[in-house]
Amino acid sequence: MDVDLDAALADPGVVARYLDKIVMVPGSGCRWWSGAISGRGHGRFWVSGDLVVIAHRFGFALTEGPEALRDAPQLAHRCDNPLCQRVHPEHIVASTAARNRREWAIRRHIAGLPLSDPRGARGRAQELRTLLRENPAGVLVDQARLVALIGEQRPLF
Ligand SMILES: [Zn+2]
Repeated sequence: MDVDLDAALADPGVVARYLDKIVMVPGSGCRWWSGAISGRGHGRFWVSGDLVVIAHRFGFALTEGPEALRDAPQLAHRCDNPLCQRVHPEHIVASTAARNRREWAIRRHIAGLPLSDPRGARGRAQELRTLLRENPAGVLVDQARLVALIGEQRPLF
């Protein structure tokens, strides 16, 4: 698989297909994936043949090099947007499983973050993907609606 991934990263046609699935949304610092969605709400990128990868992992390898991806046990979305493809300290960075679990346990209780979305990771990602294809600015409206929705559902102490 590593050899296939290295070949894919060096193939301008494959890279162009990957970049073609990324949508920029005015007012958002994220680079949004508009292609297929995985069961956990991440982007799925069909590379070639039977090689399908998590989209932001492909983007990380494209930006940082395949060795950096192999050296990173996991990646983390600092922006809490699983569809984000922006390799940047404020968006996607190398991480570990233990660190990701710790951060998730802290951040899932923060109202308005995608981690606390009642639609679930996949449901949310699918709705956002539809918006990205039809009306990209709608993803920011969706974020505001999420804050309002979670705000209303929060118990009063
Ligand atoms: Zn982001």
